[in-house]
Amino acid sequence: MVRSISILGCTGSIGRQTAAVAQHLGIRVAALTANRKIDLLEQQARLFHPSFVAVYDESAAKAFKIAVADTDIRVGSGMEGLIEAATLAESDCVVTAVSGAVGLKPTLAAIDAKKRIALANKETLVCAGEIVMARSKETGAEIVPVDSEHSAIFQCLMGRGEGELHKILLTGSGGPFRGRRREELESITPEEAVRHPNWSMGAKISVDSSTLMNKGLEFVEAMHLFGVRPEDIQVVIHPQSVIHSMVELVDGTVIAQLGVPDMGLPIQLALTYPERKASMFEHLDFWKLRDLSFEEPDLENFPCLRLAMDCAKRGGTAPCVMSAANEVAVHKFLRHELGYNRIYDAAAEAVEQVGVVPAADLDTILAADQAARVFVKEHF
Ligand code: MG
Repeated sequence: MVRSISILGCTGSIGRQTAAVAQHLGIRVAALTANRKIDLLEQQARLFHPSFVAVYDESAAKAFKIAVADTDIRVGSGMEGLIEAATLAESDCVVTAVSGAVGLKPTLAAIDAKKRIALANKETLVCAGEIVMARSKETGAEIVPVDSEHSAIFQCLMGRGEGELHKILLTGSGGPFRGRRREELESITPEEAVRHPNWSMGAKISVDSSTLMNKGLEFVEAMHLFGVRPEDIQVVIHPQSVIHSMVELVDGTVIAQLGVPDMGLPIQLALTYPERKASMFEHLDFWKLRDLSFEEPDLENFPCLRLAMDCAKRGGTAPCVMSAANEVAVHKFLRHELGYNRIYDAAAEAVEQVGVVPAADLDTILAADQAARVFVKEHF
């Protein structure tokens, strides 16, 4: 079990839950970072007494420094601050709960510093999967996924030998609009899209879950994390979200990981791994569980998943461009500036128009990310 952690993105949904789990387990929170929500950050800082806090936004960092002037907390800012939090000597694990490409550099810095990565930042693997996995192999830094699906696959593969895996069964609830046709989705509002039936999450990922883009991003991540080809991953819709994903072994045996749909569970495992500790979460009651059902994903009416699977096959900067374009489009949708179905159009057109090159290094990846953002801002 880890003793001391840095939480990157501590004011978001995963960051807040990580802080609660750390408190439950008696793990020290040595560093916190946030973008600009300094009121909540100050509450967390006063509760956990970290040695170091970084605020990404420069002017918010100045205000935060004044707010905690009565404490001995060191305050940093910008990318430099995020990297300092990610490499703090005191921390043996870095929880990467920031959203967006801003998570890339700090994650790589933490890998170089041989920290355990409790990975919750999607862009790390979607955009830089090859670089990140190669670097972690080099330095020996463990990557333990926090996303429920990848945590499930990770758990199903514990103790398995090379060559035993036949395929990954990546499950997803299908989102709140499962069963609807694309024409019917035209008028979906942000308020409807952020209401997920099973999981409580931030606004952006809730919209991604409803379009199935989230499952698509997870598809790309799974490919890198577990070193498999796109054809080795099958997406299975499982509306109850009790099974969090499965693996099929070469002999036909299927191993599934089940639990209540609460992100606290995979967060806790990322911190206690390879041990297990009693948690503060509900346990499953199989007398109350009724039907667990499964179906094929609807790629016709939810084309974001198909797009992501195509981008996974294309490789290079394709998943990064798609993900960045999607992010800008989702934020436009959340501000009522873009229709629901236009989110897919923006991501698909960005991949065609921005173009795809090999993801050779971080600069190439960040340039692709930027180009995709500019494309959507200008054309949608
Ligand atoms: Mg997930």
